[in-house]
Amino acid sequence: RERTLAVVKPDGVRGNHTDAIKATIEGSGFDIVKEMSLQLDLMTAQILYFEHYRKPFFQELINFMTSGPIVAMVLEHDNAVEKWRKLIGPTDPNKARIEQPNSIRAICGSSTTQNCVHGSDSSAAANREIMIIFKDVQSG
Ligand code: ATP
Repeated sequence: RERTLAVVKPDGVRGNHTDAIKATIEGSGFDIVKEMSLQLDLMTAQILYFEHYRKPFFQELINFMTSGPIVAMVLEHDNAVEKWRKLIGPTDPNKARIEQPNSIRAICGSSTTQNCVHGSDSSAAANREIMIIFKDVQSG
């Protein structure tokens, strides 16, 4: 079984989408092996998103991701990375509403930055992100 990191971003928490997202996660057969509510500090957000630091949206992304509490969850399932990314849908919620109207971002995302949820894009990224957020490589 594989692990991935799921995050309900500040817009998702503010919009009270956390319970519905957790219901989708559990209804899809994932085990939630770790869960934590936290607010990212500036340093942790910058480390999480360092691959985007040259992009024009970086500052907006960091401001947004540190703007309020998030809920981080370690999910376990066969092919967890791909399975979770299919459930969340494309980065841009408007594209998600056209291409995958039942996806989480189609339902609760409002913009390309404020897109409600995060999913790791590989198993290596998942391990790295889980270590950064939970400060523990083999958490669970
Ligand atoms: P995530 O990694 O959060 O699951 P993703 O893999 O779909 O999302 P990435 O390309 O890794 O997207 O970008 C990380 C995050 O940066 C996005 O989820 C979004 O919040 C923000 N972002 C990405 N591209 C843009 C953009 N063009 N304009 C504004 N914000 C963006």
